[in-house]
Amino acid sequence: MDFTGKRVIVTGAGKGIGRVIAEILTARGASVIALTRSAADVEALRKDLGCVAIQVDLADAEATRAAARAAIPADLLVNCAGTTELQPFLDTTVEAFDHLMAVNTRAPMIVAQEYARERIAAGKGGAIVNVSSVASFIGIPDHAAYCASKGGLDGLTRVMAKELAPKGIRVNAVNPTVTLTPMAVKAWSDPQKAAGMLNRIPVGRFAESSDVAEVVLFLLSDEAAMVNGLAMPVDGGFMIG
Ligand code: NDP
Repeated sequence: MDFTGKRVIVTGAGKGIGRVIAEILTARGASVIALTRSAADVEALRKDLGCVAIQVDLADAEATRAAARAAIPADLLVNCAGTTELQPFLDTTVEAFDHLMAVNTRAPMIVAQEYARERIAAGKGGAIVNVSSVASFIGIPDHAAYCASKGGLDGLTRVMAKELAPKGIRVNAVNPTVTLTPMAVKAWSDPQKAAGMLNRIPVGRFAESSDVAEVVLFLLSDEAAMVNGLAMPVDGGFMIG
């Protein structure tokens, strides 16, 4: 897939899956506009990949909208930034719940609104991919806020797909299983818990960031012209039960 000349917004491009998406897009000719939080990552994205990198805390709605406005116009959008906090349901705090909903669900909505408004005003189509999780389909202990936030993101994706496709913008989600990034190390460092998950993945391994990135790029591409509104597992068969 060739992205020569395409401007692509990637949130959470500083680390993990988002960074790999930015690397592969750049290698295939795209100009990446990165929205991410840590100053060191902003610098690295500029230096290593030549990205336009905008520092923003996506938990802050106003700052998110301002960053999205600074990032447009763009041909394509990947909402990849996400965060997690491990808390048993009974101990899930309002603060953690609100934070995860703000970063994982509300920020993708805000960035997509700004991206899509500009595309529609310019009379151009586009594509959006929201990076969700298999956590939107199943209940994972200690992930109440995370599962809720990703379930919300899938719901948002379906509504966006219905409302924006008639205007030429396709919207899909990808739903990875455990993917070996810093975030996964935080969530899956307990070997017993990891084994329980791994045993249910028929391909016998967790995902690499590039496994997820390649599916994201396919959904962004014109080759996926008839794919819209999907929540697509990237899970080695985990969801077949
Ligand atoms: P990482 O923690 O490795 O990277 C997340 C990126 O998002 C970082 O660059 C981080 O910046 C950025 N980010 C997080 N919070 C904010 C914020 N408030 N404002 C701005 N940027 C922010 O995570 P992954 O690569 O593992 O995850 C990427 C996506 O994939 C997430 O949406 C996650 O939910 C999803 N996912 C991950 C899975 C996994 O096992 N890894 C499985 C399924 C889905 P900084 O570090 O500076 O905060």
